[in-house]
Amino acid sequence: MEKKQYERPHIIKLEAGMPGKFGMRSESLPVTHIDGVSVKELTTNFGSPLFVLSERTIRSVYRKALKSFSTRYPKVQFAWSYKTNYLTAVCKIYHQEGSWAEVVSGFEYDKAIANGVDPARIIFNGPGKSADDLRKAANGGSLIHIDHLDELYTLTDLAGELPRKPLVAIRVNMDTGIYPMWDRFGFNYENGQAWDAINKIMMAGKLELVGLHTHIGTFILSAGAYGVAAGKLADLALGIRQKFGHDIRYIDMGGGFASKNTLKGSYLPGSDTNPTFDDYAEAITSALVNSGFRPDNLPLLILETGRALIDEAGYIISTVIANKRLSSGRRATIIDAGVNLLFTSFWYQHPITPAQGFSQYREDNTLYGPLCMNIDCIRESANLPLLNKGDRIVIHYTGAYNLTQWMQFITLRPNVVLIDEDSKPHVVRENEMLSTINGPEKTPPHLA
Ligand SMILES: *Cc1c(COP(=O)(O)O)cnc(C)c1O
Repeated sequence: MEKKQYERPHIIKLEAGMPGKFGMRSESLPVTHIDGVSVKELTTNFGSPLFVLSERTIRSVYRKALKSFSTRYPKVQFAWSYKTNYLTAVCKIYHQEGSWAEVVSGFEYDKAIANGVDPARIIFNGPGKSADDLRKAANGGSLIHIDHLDELYTLTDLAGELPRKPLVAIRVNMDTGIYPMWDRFGFNYENGQAWDAINKIMMAGKLELVGLHTHIGTFILSAGAYGVAAGKLADLALGIRQKFGHDIRYIDMGGGFASKNTLKGSYLPGSDTNPTFDDYAEAITSALVNSGFRPDNLPLLILETGRALIDEAGYIISTVIANKRLSSGRRATIIDAGVNLLFTSFWYQHPITPAQGFSQYREDNTLYGPLCMNIDCIRESANLPLLNKGDRIVIHYTGAYNLTQWMQFITLRPNVVLIDEDSKPHVVRENEMLSTINGPEKTPPHLA
């Protein structure tokens, strides 16, 4: 048996079953295992810090989301947002589940092709496509979502030299009651830019207008905003039908659904209060079925959901390096995972749980990462049991954006492990080494 660590006695106010304004105080439990694999075993075999992804959760959340939409609307297609997490293993799970690919750069486009995605099932978004990107996507029959007039003219110009008519949609931005409004991407609905772009495409006849796209923002806490957006896209589609006798094939509602994470400063946990897939699906599909689309000619509904699909499936396991008292008397704990790995800690209060048993005493605690950099704070305040040097913690809901926005800064990036549905861990990205950093560097001869 291990010798227990000494913990000094504390005097704390007794809370004998008194409910607070949020009801009874909940006891936090240690999370000692992820999908049946012990945290201890994971860190022994793969090191700390460690990113862990759950294949079981990825698939089950995806199926839940698909069901929410497909029980309400007959033609639904998800397209995995590559920038949210483009680890090959992750993309392949979504593609196996039937998801298309949604990419926003030439490199992501190439990655989707390398992952075996049919080019006709790649949606190419974003304001920064080069002429080469456009040519490649048009040749492959991919769905090109035009962001601005310059892109429209470049593509119209290229179309003359291409063997097939490029398939395009326009991205539309609009007032949905969410402010600040995202109006930097696409063409505005209210001031007529979107209708103008549609007319330019239809009159020139060089591009095949197959869809309408919007992506109203991210972590949108109002499902109703999606209803407004879907209604406006339906209006545009019906305008096209009326003026040109042309039916678009799909309406793409983009991403932006909130995950279960809690935004900083929120009063209640996001897992309790954020809209569910059912809420978003109800708003979007009601707007579409109640619009003027004929029942025999409903457009395909595409969803480019990113963070709401994968946040829950990601964990970071981290180890306590040290505890200290700040000059204010506040307890602070230094852990071995910094903000360079957990970008989303700038706006979320990620749930944090100890990975081993603990005593009753809890204290407000500031959690710092290991970087020698003042901004490296994982949580300004978390009410946690006492953690000792060498203890492990699990940081939850880290699956979205961290594995694409993370950076090598002061520390190198660690292993990423995927736990499969049989509880078998697989390294899906190896930890970096000095050679990862030095590899692409070149030293001029006089400095060699
Ligand atoms: C980032 C992005 C998404 C995914 O957004 P989430 O907020 O992660 O759901 C979808 N579509 C486009 C165009 C995007 O830029």
